[in-house]
Amino acid sequence: MNIIGHFIQGEISTEATRTQAVYNPATGEISKHVAIASKQTVETAIAAAHAVFPAWRDTPVIKRARVMFKFKELLEKNAEKICALIGEEHGKIVHDAAGELQRGIENVEYACSAPEFLKGEFSKNVGPDIDSWSEFQPLGVVAGITPFNFPVMVPLWMFPMAIVCGNCFILKPSERDPSSTLFIAQLLKEAGLPDGVFNLVNGDKEAVDTLLHDKRIKAVSFVGSTAIAEYIYTTATAAGKRCQALGGAKNHAIVMPDADIDNVVASLLGAAFGSSGERCMALSVAVAVGDDIADLLIEKLKPEIAKLKLGHFSDKTNDFGPVITAEHKAKVIGFIDSAEQQGATIVVDGRNAAPQGYENGFFVGPTLIDHVSKDMSSYRQEIFGPVLQIIRVNTMQEAMQLIDDHEYGNGTCIYTRDGEAARYFSTHIQVGMVGINVPLPVPVAYHSFGGWKRSLFGDLYAYGPDGARFYTHRKTITQRWPSASVREAKQFAMPSSQ
Ligand code: NAD
Repeated sequence: MNIIGHFIQGEISTEATRTQAVYNPATGEISKHVAIASKQTVETAIAAAHAVFPAWRDTPVIKRARVMFKFKELLEKNAEKICALIGEEHGKIVHDAAGELQRGIENVEYACSAPEFLKGEFSKNVGPDIDSWSEFQPLGVVAGITPFNFPVMVPLWMFPMAIVCGNCFILKPSERDPSSTLFIAQLLKEAGLPDGVFNLVNGDKEAVDTLLHDKRIKAVSFVGSTAIAEYIYTTATAAGKRCQALGGAKNHAIVMPDADIDNVVASLLGAAFGSSGERCMALSVAVAVGDDIADLLIEKLKPEIAKLKLGHFSDKTNDFGPVITAEHKAKVIGFIDSAEQQGATIVVDGRNAAPQGYENGFFVGPTLIDHVSKDMSSYRQEIFGPVLQIIRVNTMQEAMQLIDDHEYGNGTCIYTRDGEAARYFSTHIQVGMVGINVPLPVPVAYHSFGGWKRSLFGDLYAYGPDGARFYTHRKTITQRWPSASVREAKQFAMPSSQ
């Protein structure tokens, strides 16, 4: 049996009392098994990280950044292999996997600038002979728990930043597509990272709960569904840990009557159906302002959707692949069924759309649903599949109210030619990441990523400047070197600049 193991203290370990099947989602066959870590295995990883933390913390930041430079080179050199590993277990097409990897590499590039962003702040003469500065110190051993849909990019949001800031890291990636994550972990060793600074444990709730309760873990970053994000956040913070937990989404695009409709159609296709809709920033609801724009949108979308090609990850001419598991396929189809039963119109039906030769794969075809209303479960909940729903409203205010009333607030977009409307929208909408004629407004690596409402639990966003703050403690030092001739006066009033 081919077992995907853990990476602890610089070595692969396949030790496990339990394993779980990993599927090739295009064929529906089991391709490998993954070791499921016990509490004891996770504790071994934590102990390894804890032991090397003092030495890594004291390693000059420029040397830590050099490891990241080398790691970036190795990610680029091994890009083809990484994308194939992603495709084999996730199912996304190689061009999409290449985009995922590139976005991840950009986070490594940002981490390389740590000597700059960790410089701290200095103020001279805040009082007589007194200087004051703030420095940013690592937390210790920190953990990351990541979802299946970006097995390389989301871990790269976390560990390069944590490690370059001087922390040691335990990663618990998704057990559904673990191979690409394990492969990049090994590249860290090749890049010169000392053993134990980064460790990876595959597993499920047992592994996660061990990380959440172990006192040696100082902070937890999580990305996944909202129910688990909330559990992680409440459990980790109750245990006294710093926590950022990013959850699910329902991303709306408002299509205004003045929008350039051909551009809207072209960009909606990729944003709704790319990666089979398994992106937390996927645009899954188009809110058409006026029946005329809704009708025109559907008329233009239908022939374009008919041209979309589903299939195996290795064929670059395919637009998207299967969803992750048979259970997830059934869940997506269940949402389409429920929308139909609750009165929506299925304009394009992807429920029976397996490409020839892949009848047992977990494929769902592109699906377009019209006349969706806000009480339908397909609208209230995240589908995470290749399904675009259309809601018809009469005004922009009505469209914005719909978005603000939704429990999620990850991403959104407005399509318009009207600058005033776009500015009003971006100022007032209750969503964390906003696009203006940009359907997937995923912030670049030197900004930070995060939603509002129940799309994020915690205060600091992922990666970029917020990432650096999340993985460090601010310490402010106030120092006085009085001259030998100065005698200090006794002072009982609160020291101030008066
Ligand atoms: P998931 O919540 O099922 O799993 C995420 C991680 O949590 C995995 O490592 C998994 O092993 C672990 N986990 C699952 N059940 C657990 C439990 N009961 N206790 C402890 N740990 C548990 O999410 P998924 O299906 O892998 O990923 C898809 C979800 O992630 C979607 O909801 C998507 O919107 C979300 N997501 C959000 C973002 C974002 O930035 N907001 C990015 C990517 C994905």
